[in-house]
Amino acid sequence: MELFKKGEDYTTAPSFWFNKDNKIVKNRNLPLMTPKQMDELPPLTYEDGETVYQRGKGFIPLNYNSIINYVGLSYGTIWSIGCPLHCTYCGNTKFIEYDSGYRRLRHSSPRTIVDEIKRAITKQPHLSVVSFYDDSFLALPYVQLEEFCKLYKAEIKIPFAIYGVIPTYVREDKIALLLDAGMNRVRMGIQSGSDNILEFYKRPTKLHRIKEATEILNKFDVFNQFKLPVLAGLSRKSMIGNLLNRDTNERLAGSLAGALIAAQNGAKIIRVHDVQETVDVLSVWQACTKGITNE
Ligand code: SF4
Repeated sequence: MELFKKGEDYTTAPSFWFNKDNKIVKNRNLPLMTPKQMDELPPLTYEDGETVYQRGKGFIPLNYNSIINYVGLSYGTIWSIGCPLHCTYCGNTKFIEYDSGYRRLRHSSPRTIVDEIKRAITKQPHLSVVSFYDDSFLALPYVQLEEFCKLYKAEIKIPFAIYGVIPTYVREDKIALLLDAGMNRVRMGIQSGSDNILEFYKRPTKLHRIKEATEILNKFDVFNQFKLPVLAGLSRKSMIGNLLNRDTNERLAGSLAGALIAAQNGAKIIRVHDVQETVDVLSVWQACTKGITNE
């Protein structure tokens, strides 16, 4: 912005790429920030008098109603950035190709993130949950998580959810710590239950590790901490195709087996393609387990 404002050649700005005369100019990256520098970044403000753009209305004052309309009761944030893995489809992989430093997990101190959340709650008292969208929250070192949990539990009285969990980093001690501090939901990305697909996408987490991570989460019953219904979507998935060597339109039997197993293990919502067939299977199962009520 400074170069632009001064009328100088802004296409020399570091960490940016430009299309200049139909040629891509790739400027050098600035060094990645240290934790101390991240702590010193200006805090998110949530000032009074902010405006929001609405199509047809222009800029209008931002009030509680508009915040609730846009983001609901959840405060979404990110504590750490970066991911040591390199899945083929992920933007992180491109960053790592360009600068191997992006492999490092970078984060501010626990004090900084807790203060950010406290500030948000002061400005938006309706907030009822904090949602972390880090790529890999559980890859954060135990000592950092411990300090974060101590502060969170003492100073923030609402639960939090973690939406970026990589199975490789799921550990029993970390889950216990986070649950005690108020974590009530996690979302773990596994990509596939097929070793071939995992290999294809260069996901380093092997199936046995996914299974171990799931067993740890099951042990703590994380999925039911908040008494929310669990949704299972296995219908026609590639893991069924790989297991049975079937094309997409030949996976009915495998999908029905998956739906039944999910329901038997507590899933309350089943996402399917073949509705009637799935209802029939689940009806027979329910009749067998609960007794037939229709004579
Ligand atoms: S684990 Fe997730 S964040 Fe990390 S490289 Fe793979 S897709 Fe990207």
